Amino acid sequence: MLLLSHHPFQRSGAWAAALLAGLSHPGLLDGDGLDRVAARIAEDCERAGRLAKGEPGWAWLVRLAGMYPQSPPVHPSRAKNPRPIGARVLDFLGPDPDPERVAEQGGRVWPCWMCQAPGASIRWGKDRLPLADSAQHINNSAVYSGGYPLCRPCRIALWALPYGSATSGSGMNVTVGCWDESIERAVTTAYFAVSEQALAEGWTSWRQGPAAEDLLWRFIADRGSEQGQLDVLRWSNDNRDPRLDSRILSPAAARRLAELHRTADTAELRRAARTAGHHPLDLAADPDLFAQALATTPRWAVPVLRSLGGDPQPSTTVRTPATR
Ligand SMILES: [Zn+2]
Repeated sequence: MLLLSHHPFQRSGAWAAALLAGLSHPGLLDGDGLDRVAARIAEDCERAGRLAKGEPGWAWLVRLAGMYPQSPPVHPSRAKNPRPIGARVLDFLGPDPDPERVAEQGGRVWPCWMCQAPGASIRWGKDRLPLADSAQHINNSAVYSGGYPLCRPCRIALWALPYGSATSGSGMNVTVGCWDESIERAVTTAYFAVSEQALAEGWTSWRQGPAAEDLLWRFIADRGSEQGQLDVLRWSNDNRDPRLDSRILSPAAARRLAELHRTADTAELRRAARTAGHHPLDLAADPDLFAQALATTPRWAVPVLRSLGGDPQPSTTVRTPATR
């Protein structure tokens, strides 16, 4: 059983794992289901890890490299290792060692760092757990003396994450969460469909498909007035320059974006937003960013961008007794 934790990567990966197993909820994943999901992940890692740059399917390796630097499928010397990549992936997605035996042999056991399930003794660092410290940086995860203890279902969820994420226009990973489970499942399903298409068609670049932001905008538009708060994470686990940008899209901002998708010229809106260096989604989500964009963008783009800001402000004065 895969429990949904508070960690956005684990949650998104858990939904993706459920989708890979053809189930409606991560909580329905049993041992067999986890085995099947792990086998599928390992298979895709094996295939991507053997490609030369630019060969059909290369896009998947790019995604893996942006999430798990130095891990078996993307390590620069991956081809030299005599053991197949898929087998090495299966090794670290395998069952948890029996906690009693671990303790007998002098090892330590903790509750899983993500879902709190007891009996976790396998610890992961940056190469497998995106945006964590390296397992060698003992000071930063001192309580576990290097790496974070993770149960098997959470380890599998973290490696199902690529399937439930998408790639932004600037090449970052995009993972979207929502505390409303039905919306979180739906948005992960939308990204999952593109990942599956990329794998099936052997995309060499993520530019062959829509950018994550445009996919999300279309997703929001399809929901119409029924919106929840979306937490949009843009991130990269790059070795030298790891990044995490978080943007919260309120239900009101999402409803506005849905309406604009229906009524406005979205290509022109995107073009206007681009003059300010952003996507319409970001400008609708962040009032400060929006004000800054209006102040700095070329004159032609100002009236176009204004529609992203919602109702004009003076409406409050209209309701005062003097003006009624
Ligand atoms: Zn766990």
